[in-house]
Amino acid sequence: TVKTRFAPSPTGFLHVGGARTALYSWLYARHFKGEFVLRIEDTDLERSTQEAIDAIIEGMKWLGLNWEEGPYYQTQRFDRYNSLIDQLLDEDKAYKCYCSRERLDGLREQQMAAGEKPRYDGHCRHSSAQHVSDAPCVIRFKNPTEGKVVFDDHVRGRIETSNDQLDDLIIRRTDGAPTYNFCVVVDDWDMEISHVVRGEDHINNTPRQINIYQALGAPVPEFAHVSMILGDDGAKLSKRHGAVSVMQYRDDGYLPQALLNYLVRLGWSHGDQEIFSLDEMIELFSLDGIGKSASAFNTDKLLWLNQHYLKTSPAEEVASYLVWHMQDQQIELSKGPALAEVVTLYAERCHTLKEMAEQSRYLFEDFSEFEENAAKKHLRPVAAEVLARVRDKLAALTDWQASFIHEQINATASELELGMGKVGMPLRVAVTGAGQSPGIDGVIALLSKEQVLARIDMALA
Ligand code: GLU
Repeated sequence: TVKTRFAPSPTGFLHVGGARTALYSWLYARHFKGEFVLRIEDTDLERSTQEAIDAIIEGMKWLGLNWEEGPYYQTQRFDRYNSLIDQLLDEDKAYKCYCSRERLDGLREQQMAAGEKPRYDGHCRHSSAQHVSDAPCVIRFKNPTEGKVVFDDHVRGRIETSNDQLDDLIIRRTDGAPTYNFCVVVDDWDMEISHVVRGEDHINNTPRQINIYQALGAPVPEFAHVSMILGDDGAKLSKRHGAVSVMQYRDDGYLPQALLNYLVRLGWSHGDQEIFSLDEMIELFSLDGIGKSASAFNTDKLLWLNQHYLKTSPAEEVASYLVWHMQDQQIELSKGPALAEVVTLYAERCHTLKEMAEQSRYLFEDFSEFEENAAKKHLRPVAAEVLARVRDKLAALTDWQASFIHEQINATASELELGMGKVGMPLRVAVTGAGQSPGIDGVIALLSKEQVLARIDMALA
């Protein structure tokens, strides 16, 4: 059975690169009706924070990437790692290394000067000093000295590494803490991970990890190393390209579905299809569809997808995300229309939920001033007669619906022998305070008659 995981190090927020890796890993599990694990790799005590853990979990939840198991924490599993390290020591598959910092630095300098890749020379591997000394030491893994490590990466194809390229990795530091490459192997084994999907920055760790699996007698999982995300200028994606934190996209007014659709296409394809519902993603996703080359982030495309989902998702669902933005902008919801109606009215006009909240404030709150330019153009000098007349008609209306409201505007225009715009615009400015809004009949229908009449009166005053 397929079991995958997302294993972030909690040193910062959940960024789009991590989210995409998590999505691919999650989709692969969902596609095979397998399981997905969340594991927090918090062994770096200095850089890991609770804040980052919370932010990662919040991001995963907002995206809807749910997990069957976890979150596991590596810091809670030190006993397990250490007992396996002791076992490797007993089996002579690991050894104590007493080499001093000075010796290692000297070695490194020599190797660098000779144009070699710095690597540990195995000095303590054969020495018997380890049996007698109480001096501080690290534990090194006995990497095989011959042969090669071969694996077939689902993205990058066959990768072969000769063992003479690898040195004896430290698996426990002097302070007793097991190291990252060892913990990952033990975790993926214990958690029965079948497919490791992760960033390509880990690809050099994989041969070392495979050797550790083998030393432990553990089955080796399959691997898929996903390429990097670049900014639209071709440089590695970073803050200066705009938002990189997933939650920043929430704050900026994106729907999680739009971001998921964007991320799945960023480096994965299925023909030339661009729009994928969640169900389609799950059905169609495969590791083989992941491209080898780095992908460039394109905010315009994300905006386009966001608008697509604003327009095509059920209004109730969009409304459930709009609530957050209304609260964020301190718009008091109790006095306005249902949010689903706001969504229906605004979906065509907005690219983000943030815009939608900003633009629809007048539906929830009265205002005391009209937008300067709109008022100059449409209210003063001449609109009094128009507004007074349409006010009377609206006041007399019993059935407060957009189509009937439309008729009153129409009737006013023909009685005064004016174009519709000459009635609609002053009315729009009076009712919304601004020169732009969705169709004014639809807007008026979402307000109460009292509100509309009061606003017209304010414009007339
Ligand atoms: N903790 C690692 C990271 O955040 C991921 C390791 C892995 O997926 O194996 O980069």
